[in-house]
This record gives sequence, structure tokens and C-alpha cells, in this order.
Amino acid sequence: TIYDPKYDSSQQEHLSLLGELRRAVEQNELRLYYQPKVSLTSANVSSVEALLRWQHPERGLMAPATFIPFAEHTGYIKVLTRWVLRESIRQCGEWQRAELRLQISVNISARDLMSRDLPDLVAELLAEYDVPANLICLEITESGFMDDPAHAQKVLDRLAALGLQLSIDDYGTGYSSLSYIMRLPVQELKIDRSFISRMVGNDEVSTIVRSTIELGHNLGLKVVAE
Ligand code: MN
Repeated sequence: TIYDPKYDSSQQEHLSLLGELRRAVEQNELRLYYQPKVSLTSANVSSVEALLRWQHPERGLMAPATFIPFAEHTGYIKVLTRWVLRESIRQCGEWQRAELRLQISVNISARDLMSRDLPDLVAELLAEYDVPANLICLEITESGFMDDPAHAQKVLDRLAALGLQLSIDDYGTGYSSLSYIMRLPVQELKIDRSFISRMVGNDEVSTIVRSTIELGHNLGLKVVAE
């Protein structure tokens, strides 16, 4: 290999971002923003999705797209997901004690789903904050289980056995077959935002969305528009 100084600087950037992310967790720079999910039949908000932001001391409020792909690539996502799970479950318990019964959805990456200790971790946190399992929903993407469908199925079965709700996120962008999805213990299908944002005034896309809603309902699933 021929030495290239570019390699040093990208390596350096990489290390500094990893260091900053570590500090973000230790110094409490991470924040959760709760996006409501509105029921179209009752117009009520009965659940929210926890979205991660990073309140960076110099760069300001950072969107997940600026650090999540990096965290996924380096494996640091596991630490971030642990933090998000703990904070969401703690918040859910606090709301419940204030008589605000809101279900919280947490995004789970492919790497998290591959880790064997995820169900035990969630069970411990639910016990620690005294939160009923059905108030927590885990959102998984199709790409999250297509790498190793058999293993993913085992982890999902264990999570479902705990009483957690499970949701397929970004539905329609992956290549998972419906017959596979039907075998998963999921309760919810979230239609990817790329369909929702294009459906108004586009007959083809609105037909896809309408058919997906019908299909989801026929399978007994709740359907959510992202
Ligand atoms: Mn999501």
C-alpha cells in the first residue's frame, strides 16, 4: 500500500467523532424528541416515537443523519440504543405516574437486533422503571432483519414474549417478502415517508399506499403513515 496523507486525516476525523460521541453520552448531550402518532379514527395521540438528537456544545442541535450512520458503521450504535431505551422507558414510567398513558416507540438498528442481550436488557429496564411491556414498541427496519432472518426471528420472538409491541419501520423500501413478515410477531406497519410525501396528486403512489393499508389491515396490523 502506498502512503497517502489523506488516510491520516480521515482516520483522525473518524477518531475525533467517536471521541465526541463518547463524550455526548457521558456529558449528557443526547436528547429525545417525542413525535406524536395521531389516530385517524379518534384524532387522539396514544403513542409517540422517540427521536434522537445531539445537543453538541459547538455545532448546536445535530440531526440523527449526521451521526447515526457513523455510529452504525463503528458499532457505537449499541451504546446509543441502550441510552435511548433507558431514557424512553424512564420517561414512559414518569408519564404513567402522571396518568399520561403514552406508548413510546424506539428505533432499533440491525446491529441491535443481532445482539443476543437485547431482550434481557429491555426486560431489566422495564422492571427497573416499573413500566408495562405493552407501553414500549420497538421499530425495526426491513434491512434490520434481512441480513440474518432466522436469528432476527428468534430475537423478535423473545421480545414479543416479553409483551413488547413490534413495528416494521420504513416499510416498502426493502425487499422482504410478505410471507416472511407474516411470520414475525409484529403489530404495526409503518409506510415509508417516501411514499407518503409523494402520494398526493400521484395516482400510482397513492394506489400503492392504499393497497398497502388494505393489505396491512387484512393481516391484522395497525398501519402508520410516516
Ligand atoms: Mn422509526
